Amino acid sequence: MNQGKVDLKGLSLKQLEQLLLEFGKEKYRVKQLLRWIYQRAVSDFEQMTDLAKVFRRQLAEHAYVSAWQPEAVEESRDGTKKYLFRLSDGESIEAVRIPMDEGRATLCISTQVGCAMQCRFCLTGNFGLTRNLTVAEIVNQVCAAQADAPISNIVLMGMGEPLHNLDNVVAALQILYLDDGLGFGTRRVTLSTSGLVPEIAALAEQVKVQLAVSLNATTDEVRDRLMPINKKYPLAVLLAACRDYTQKTRQKITFEYILIRAVNDSIADAKRLVQLLHGLPCKINLIPFNEHEGSEFKCPAEETISTFQSYLMQRQIITMRRASKGQDISAACGQLKGKLDKQAR
Ligand code: SAH
Ligand code: SF4
Repeated sequence: MNQGKVDLKGLSLKQLEQLLLEFGKEKYRVKQLLRWIYQRAVSDFEQMTDLAKVFRRQLAEHAYVSAWQPEAVEESRDGTKKYLFRLSDGESIEAVRIPMDEGRATLCISTQVGCAMQCRFCLTGNFGLTRNLTVAEIVNQVCAAQADAPISNIVLMGMGEPLHNLDNVVAALQILYLDDGLGFGTRRVTLSTSGLVPEIAALAEQVKVQLAVSLNATTDEVRDRLMPINKKYPLAVLLAACRDYTQKTRQKITFEYILIRAVNDSIADAKRLVQLLHGLPCKINLIPFNEHEGSEFKCPAEETISTFQSYLMQRQIITMRRASKGQDISAACGQLKGKLDKQAR
C-alpha cells in the first residue's frame, strides 16, 4: 500500500519543507505536520484536522508515516524494559528503556542490525554486520518507546557502531532534536563509539551530541585483542582525535571502560588510564563486564572494581560505575542481539 510513497518519518526539516513546496504549501506548515507526527503520534493524514482536506489527500497519495509497535516487550525485575522490533525485511533489533532517578528514563537504541567491529567481549559483534538502519528505523525506536512510557535521555549504545552508519545517525539525531517534533536537547543524547577516528572528526562538524568512547584497555596490545578496530586506530591516534573533539566542541567526553577480570582491571591499568587521559576534559564510566553465554571473559571481583574506581577518583577523574540493569532479560550492555542467528550466516 505504501509502495512508491515517501516515509515522512525519515525526512529532515529541509526535506519536509521541500515536499510542502512541491505541494504548493507554505513552509511554515511543516510545524503542523511535525506536531501531528511526533507530538501526537498520528500517522493517518485524515486525522490531521488542521490541514486542508485537499492537502491531506495529496499527502496520502504520495506519502505515509511509518509507526512501530514492538513485536515483544520484556520487563526486568528492576524495571528495565526491552523492546523487540521487527523490520520490514524480517530482520529485528532491540531498544532498552532503563529507569533512572526521579522518574526519568534513558532509552538505549540501535543503529545497525549487528555490528562489523567484532569486539571480542560483545555479543552483537559476534554476529557481524547485516545492515545499517535507515533514518526512520532509528527515529521509530524512540517514537515507539515514547508511546509506551516517557523518555528523558537517549543513548546510542544498542546494537551497532553508530559512526559506521554516520549519515543516517546524523540525520536521525537532527530529527530527534526538532523543536516541533520530539524536541530532545542535545545534552540529553549520547552517542557511543568504539573509536572510528575520521568519523569522530566528521561528527564534530555535522551535529551536536554528547560523545562517549569505548576505551576498554590501556595498552595497544590488550586493546588490539579486545577491539580489532584498534589495529587501524591505535590508542595514541584515538586519543588525539578525542582531544581535538573536546577542543572543537568544548564538550567533555565520557570514556567507557569495561572491567574484565585479569585482562584490564589491575592498578597498573588504572595508572596508565590516568596517564592516557591527562589533560583531556572527560569522565569515566566503569562497566563491570556482563557475562553472557559462551563468552571467555569474567567480571572482576567486587573489591577489584571498587579499588579501580577509588584509584581514579583520588586522582580527580570523575568516575561513575554504570549499574548493569536488565541482566535477567539479556538487556544489559553487549547482550543485545535481537533474533540474530549465527547459524543462518
Ligand atoms: N558500538 C558502540 C555502541 C554500542 S556498544 C560502542 O562500542 O561504543 C555499547 C557499550 O557496551 C560499549 O561501551 C561496549 O564496550 C559495551 N559492551 C559491549 N559488550 C559488553 C559486555 N559484555 N559487558 C559490558 N559492556 C559491554
Ligand atoms: Fe560493535 Fe560496540 Fe559491540 Fe564493539 S562493542 S562489537 S563496536 S556494538
